[in-house]
Amino acid sequence: MVDGTWGSGDQPPRDVLGPVRAFDDHRPPSLDLVNDCVHCGFCLTTCPTYVLWGEEMDSPRGRIYLMKEGLDGEPMTDSMVQHIDACLGCMACVTACPSGVKYDRLIEDTRAQVERRHPRSARDRALRSAIFALFPYPRRLRLLRGPLRAYQVSGLQGLVARTGLLQRLAPALATLESLAPRLTRVPRPPRRVRARGKRRAVVGVLTGCVQGAFFPDVNAATIRVLAAEGCDVVIPPAQGCCGALSVHNGREQEAQGFARRLIDRFERAGVDHVVVNAAGCGSSMKEYADLLRDDPRYADRAAAFAAKVRDLSEILVELGPVAERHPLPVTVAYHDACHLAHAQGVRAQPRALLNGIPGLEVREIADPELCCGSAGVWNILNPAPAADLGDRKATNVLATGATLLVTANPGCLMQVASAVRRQGGEIALAHTAKVLDASLRGLPVSSLLQP
Ligand code: SF4
Ligand code: SF4
Repeated sequence: MVDGTWGSGDQPPRDVLGPVRAFDDHRPPSLDLVNDCVHCGFCLTTCPTYVLWGEEMDSPRGRIYLMKEGLDGEPMTDSMVQHIDACLGCMACVTACPSGVKYDRLIEDTRAQVERRHPRSARDRALRSAIFALFPYPRRLRLLRGPLRAYQVSGLQGLVARTGLLQRLAPALATLESLAPRLTRVPRPPRRVRARGKRRAVVGVLTGCVQGAFFPDVNAATIRVLAAEGCDVVIPPAQGCCGALSVHNGREQEAQGFARRLIDRFERAGVDHVVVNAAGCGSSMKEYADLLRDDPRYADRAAAFAAKVRDLSEILVELGPVAERHPLPVTVAYHDACHLAHAQGVRAQPRALLNGIPGLEVREIADPELCCGSAGVWNILNPAPAADLGDRKATNVLATGATLLVTANPGCLMQVASAVRRQGGEIALAHTAKVLDASLRGLPVSSLLQP
């Protein structure tokens, strides 16, 4: 027990008078927020788990009902935890809700309660421990690059896929394996890059965990685009993780530790804005004020930091274009990453940037509000339904007839790429930063279409 609350892995006390109440007093879901829900059901059809299973308790309204039961003193049952765990945290319900229910706050607080108070099975504990010992640590992820690249180029990957053995023995590992992108060699980013032409801002760039280890080309493109648009770009070393995966999975103390470290690093860099090119990271960094609100040393600094955070597309639209755009004659399907569109409300900016490229045509994807099933590590914890959601998204993406799928989150890129491969479809994938970079540098479309 830490500071009067139960840490991850601690078992809650059993009360001799009956079962333990679902929630303790450390940040339970707010009853006021729960009561904002008027049970209208407008959110149901945008909820991926309700769409998949049609179960009320796997809808936003059902989950809010379970939170209310918990606040009324009901115990935290396995069934309650199962429905809370099944939520992707995609926040489509926040966009859809006409009453402005802050489901994002509710699920985050509920997840932290579950993580502290619910004893998980040994298998579940082992899987989660492995995930959280790896993903939030850029250095450990980078160490994986060598063996992964050898596995991909040796032909072993194709052999393993053909046998289907991994899928039968360890579905979570099979999902991880199928998601891994083709790795390319890119030099480490420099510490600072000067603005081209007149300096208009000094920005820091988050390099990220998965983005930094598996998509270093996206970071390189981000830095070039910002410099071309008149930004001095600072890349603070040893940034670590932003805490997004931890906070979205109820690991509150771990997330707070990551957030404090990142604030320290960027404060020292003295930047006007902190630019993020991964939707999940950006959404959690904008919420640092809430995450650290009880910390007297960091509460104000967290609020000041959060106010500086911008998605790459936001800062570029705020600054306005100065660099010349060269034509890119290509049809693009733009996929809204949930943590960009629903959690940050950033939809218009990426489209405006893409539409500003001569010759480029943006096509919309059907059911854009429905998550692709990536959702941080949800696809590893829930491989079968994640594959269902991925397949739905891939079908809608391929139906656009576009040549290139563009999105702003590494998780979505890996998830949709894997689903498209499963369907035998063909479409190239790129982050928004890479498309802009290609246009600013006058590269041919073919540079974006290579696997
Ligand atoms: S966050 Fe997504 S999965 Fe969770 S309840 Fe809302 S719409 Fe459903
Ligand atoms: S969360 Fe919002 S949209 Fe969903 S049932 Fe409640 S009030 Fe209606």
